[in-house]
Amino acid sequence: MLPFSRVSIIGLGLIGSSIARAVRAQMPTVALSGYDASPEVRETAKALDLVDDIADSAGAAVTDADLVILCVPVGAIGAVAREIAADLPADAVVSDVGSSKAGIARALSEALPGAIVIPAHPVAGTENSGPEAGFASLFQDRYCILTPADGADAVAVERLSSFWTKLGARVETMDAAHHDLVLAVTSHLPHLIAYTIVGTASDLEAVTQSEVIKYSAGGFRDFTRIAASDPTMWRDVFLANKDAVLEMLQRFSEDLSALQRAIRWDDGDALFDLFTRTRAVRRSIIEQGQDDSRPDFGRSHD
Ligand code: NAP
Repeated sequence: MLPFSRVSIIGLGLIGSSIARAVRAQMPTVALSGYDASPEVRETAKALDLVDDIADSAGAAVTDADLVILCVPVGAIGAVAREIAADLPADAVVSDVGSSKAGIARALSEALPGAIVIPAHPVAGTENSGPEAGFASLFQDRYCILTPADGADAVAVERLSSFWTKLGARVETMDAAHHDLVLAVTSHLPHLIAYTIVGTASDLEAVTQSEVIKYSAGGFRDFTRIAASDPTMWRDVFLANKDAVLEMLQRFSEDLSALQRAIRWDDGDALFDLFTRTRAVRRSIIEQGQDDSRPDFGRSHD
């Protein structure tokens, strides 16, 4: 028994198109409709046959849906929710995939009073964007965090959980504010650091750009993958999760100052102890199947 039979996806970029592909692969009888604000993306989605029906407006895409998933940048979620409000069937479940959750929950409940809203965040992605970047196995063995409000419809939570499980994800449920704090440290802060390091390197005058690129395998290259992530998406995430990101950034700055002090005062033990703890974190991530165990992420060194 499938949890939903008519799924509408608004925003057909990396995440929206991956959901469409995964639904086609795992639940082929589900009817899929979709919409994207960009005419080019709508054309590409048609050419790739991502969904059964590409609508001309967000409202038209949701009229028969029993599940609507908003896969647009975080800053656009409120506007899209207002666009679908008049056409949304009363019994449809509305969800999203946004990378921050508390602000989105507020925007959705304001725009869609009385609707069944269950926010979600699949913790899966790549540095690429757009409908061609998606793939069906994106969510396989990755976590999808649901952040239902207190008193949310338990049956809707169960159906959405079953939907994501069928797409291959491991589902967890969490309070939205806690989600934002956890993701601030595991995702948002690392992106901010990568953007800073790559920005600093590209601004250096005494070290040339060509040297930065030529010797990038020393560690810099791994930051450049994260720093290549979508500018619109990440601008919106930092503005939406401002409080949690600033709190984690404060902690990070204090820890950085402690490291600075350890280097200045030749405190090798402090450095060694920290690096031993961080190596153990990497090993746990591999043991839990959340990354490739091969050295250097399995890159070929032939
Ligand atoms: P994406 O590839 O850029 O796709 C977003 C799509 O939404 C674009 O085609 C965009 O069109 C369209 N769009 C923007 N505003 C719209 C509107 N008002 N109505 C309809 N369509 C609209 O981005 P993505 O990576 O899939 O990210 C989508 C969501 O997933 C974001 O909320 C993000 O936080 C979340 N997420 C991303 C990742 C990741 O790693 N990428 C992981 C987990 C969750 P234009 O190109 O014309 O703007």
